[in-house]
Amino acid sequence: MSARLPSVPVADRPYARLSPFTCGMRACCPRCGEGKLFDGFLKLAPRCEVCGLDYSFADPADGPAFFVICFVCVPAVIFGLWLEVAFQVPYWVHLVTTLPVLLLTCIPPLRPLKGWMVASQFYYKAEEGRLVMADEAPPAASGARD
Ligand SMILES: [Zn+2]
Repeated sequence: MSARLPSVPVADRPYARLSPFTCGMRACCPRCGEGKLFDGFLKLAPRCEVCGLDYSFADPADGPAFFVICFVCVPAVIFGLWLEVAFQVPYWVHLVTTLPVLLLTCIPPLRPLKGWMVASQFYYKAEEGRLVMADEAPPAASGARD
């Protein structure tokens, strides 16, 4: 004899708050932690296939590229410049050293950074700001994404 649990819609189930960093690294849904976040390498899926969370709220814009440029690309370019200044190597050496260093240090971090930023937007309920006039009541905190 098996007891059946009452049917609760997936979107109404209580979910534990997951770390945005962990979700980003695992590229999983920021609400349930089980569904996939991406539909391809960098393209976001329209929604979570497990809990149905609509990913339309996510807009990381150029954030992942900004972090890659600041923290990864600059050191890789400095490596190429150092190689040129210190050894004055021919171009083919840059082709087999500097170019792979640039590609391998800049492209792989994009996906986890984008996942982290999308998960952070969900976690902190970040959204586009809007003006509230003095005679309007501020919107109640609904927690609609929880
Ligand atoms: Zn989900």
